[in-house]
Amino acid sequence: MNTRRDFLQKLSASAFTLPFVPSLSLASTDEAKETPYQGPVLRVAICGLGSYGTRVAEAMQSCKMAKLVGVISGTPSKVKDWQAKYNIPEKNCYNYENFDKIKDNKDIDAVYVITPNALHKPQVIRVAQAGKHVICEKPIALNAAEGQAMVDACKKANVKFLVGYRMHFEPKTLEIIRLRNAGEFGKVLFFQGLTGFRIGDPNQWRLNKELAGGGSMMDIGIYAVNGARYMIGEEPSWVTAQEVKTNPEKFKEGVDETITFQMGFPGGAIASCLSTYTMNNLDRFFLNGDKGFAEMQPSTGYGPIKGRTHLGELTQPHNTHQTIQMDEMAAIILQGKKPVVPVDGEEGVRDLKIMDAIYKAVKTGKKEDLKA
Ligand code: NAD
Repeated sequence: MNTRRDFLQKLSASAFTLPFVPSLSLASTDEAKETPYQGPVLRVAICGLGSYGTRVAEAMQSCKMAKLVGVISGTPSKVKDWQAKYNIPEKNCYNYENFDKIKDNKDIDAVYVITPNALHKPQVIRVAQAGKHVICEKPIALNAAEGQAMVDACKKANVKFLVGYRMHFEPKTLEIIRLRNAGEFGKVLFFQGLTGFRIGDPNQWRLNKELAGGGSMMDIGIYAVNGARYMIGEEPSWVTAQEVKTNPEKFKEGVDETITFQMGFPGGAIASCLSTYTMNNLDRFFLNGDKGFAEMQPSTGYGPIKGRTHLGELTQPHNTHQTIQMDEMAAIILQGKKPVVPVDGEEGVRDLKIMDAIYKAVKTGKKEDLKA
């Protein structure tokens, strides 16, 4: 049976010769369902076929503007499985040693790096030097200096560099941002971001300082840092932070188990946040202004996100986050579309600057200035 997806897959091979269709409305209106999409398609290779890479690959099967066409992996058996499942030709399969050759592959436009955190910097820079656009998972690097080097390398290579911040496209999140911009909450005074889960296997890379760059902050606390910025709509000017460790054997030196942190914003708002690898059921954002409030729980999980404001429940529909993200990122890369909340490499660096300061504040016990 010829499905819409088959049609789109065939279409993508000649993406750049097709007529340009400017309006990419992601709302699945009846009209959009009836009219096959005929615009350009971003042809993507995924680097790192682990659990999140698998989730992104599945979600991309429902994209209209992005298509999975290639893989970079160190595990030949996984490559075979993905080739069969997603119809990926041999010529679009690479390993970690030879993927610089992607430079000569005219059928791949972008690489999505979904490997452990420490590998992001060298891999993103290699992709950029091969002349391909890069999408990279969070955190983009282990610290802000590394992130900046990646931004600089992508600029030098004249390729786009985006961070996989899927919440920046999530409809209920965007509705709260719209309400805030419309003044519905009045003067924003307070944000609370609670992020955490109980981490299992003590031998996984997430608990290895060299590969993860830290602990819960790098993995899940980054959502509270990033969320505070897009919910309040300002950049923080200072941070304070405190660390609690109940299990030093599992959470070794440099791997944070639980960190509480506070941020101050120029408009007078403060944020109070928690990042942990020791508690479940922590996925909550709360924003308070002098005229109203918004709360979300869950706030950053895979969804459906739930939320309400002083005006009532948020009713925006749930769509798979990674499907929306990849369609929107294709529009950013191919059409220069401007997202409501930025997802460029600089955005990733901003979060890492704050995380650097949080780790510093844990050590010094002092308020760390972010203005410099
Ligand atoms: P994972 O362990 O499931 O997958 C990692 C992949 O990298 C595996 O396929 C592994 O084989 C490969 N790899 C290559 N070199 C490796 C090495 N030296 N050590 C270990 N693995 C190596 O991890 P994951 O959950 O898929 O996370 C990957 C990235 O995606 C991380 O940066 C993480 O923060 C990010 N992530 C983002 C989200 C999100 O919602 N945006 C969710 C989960 C993970």
